[in-house]
Amino acid sequence: MLKALLSMQQTLLDWFDRHRRVMPWRALKGQRPDPYHVWLSEVMLQQTTVVTVGPYFQKFIKKWPRLSDLAAASLDDVLVAWAGLGYYARARNLHKCAKMVIEKHGGVFPDTEEGLQELPGIGPYTAGAIAAIAFDRPAIAVDGNVERVVSRLFKIETPLPASKTEIRARTADISRDNPRPGDFVQALMELGSTVCTPAKPKCGVCPWQKECRAFKAGMAEILPRRSPKEARPQRYGTVFWLEDAKGRVFLRKRPEKGLLGGMTEVPSTEWQEKQTKMPAIIRQAPVAKIQWQPFAGKVRHVFSHFSLELTILRGRQRGTGKPIQGGFWVQGKDMEEQALPSVMRKVVRLVLGGRA
Ligand code: SF4
Repeated sequence: MLKALLSMQQTLLDWFDRHRRVMPWRALKGQRPDPYHVWLSEVMLQQTTVVTVGPYFQKFIKKWPRLSDLAAASLDDVLVAWAGLGYYARARNLHKCAKMVIEKHGGVFPDTEEGLQELPGIGPYTAGAIAAIAFDRPAIAVDGNVERVVSRLFKIETPLPASKTEIRARTADISRDNPRPGDFVQALMELGSTVCTPAKPKCGVCPWQKECRAFKAGMAEILPRRSPKEARPQRYGTVFWLEDAKGRVFLRKRPEKGLLGGMTEVPSTEWQEKQTKMPAIIRQAPVAKIQWQPFAGKVRHVFSHFSLELTILRGRQRGTGKPIQGGFWVQGKDMEEQALPSVMRKVVRLVLGGRA
């Protein structure tokens, strides 16, 4: 039994040695991974794809080559660099975590899952991934790719998310006693993203075809099953696009706590389940005594737990923008340098017609 397991692990590791993709954060074969790079990439990859993360990772490493550089940066600069990656609590925790590792751990990441989980923004999955990839600890990290591979390998027919516990236990089983934990974790993820793909898995070139129960049963493409998702609730809001005579736009910072906390926004009403009537909307405008005109077109954005539809009202202030409490004026060409989350970037793109 153990012999069969070791041989299965070796088959995957051999396959990984031949097919591992070069990624900006991944150590080349035979090189030691940099824990700073592993941590940064793992935090960025939470809820985001490899393709999206690539340029962000490069930007961060160029701007802050060492962990100490990131810890010394201002939170605003980090949020600006993160803008567009979504789930902004991750950026705030990233910054907090960098500071904590510098101040409390002498700039060295803890090398165990337990130690890592005490840091901000590092949950069980990320701790497992960092412990294994950066420090070669015998840990597991079950992401969506691994869930798919393991569900198929063991023909787990219980739908996700109910099958998560079984998938985790099976992943631990096939990972135990393996000689290269860091490479094994990455090999499993790589197999899921390049061979055992959601549609049309390439079973013909899979190193585990012989062991795969779903393949034998002709069920590869229909696994893993998923319980039907509940429909996302819909919310509505209105943003106030206010310009001055120089064409500068009024922006403000969102409160530190809550959704998109600390990010910059085009001032907005609260986002509610029902559409609000006009007088109540205008009461939430940054300035009331001007003509607010509806702007053609709406912005739609999907958050993890609700969908949002934003209406835009446009207003113009006479003269150059007077200071308004809680905000600041920005030229359209400088929008890129603001910590605007994706939903607000959509607003800017719609109003400025792609010039921002
Ligand atoms: Fe996935 Fe096919 Fe390999 Fe099974 S044989 S693990 S279904 S790619």
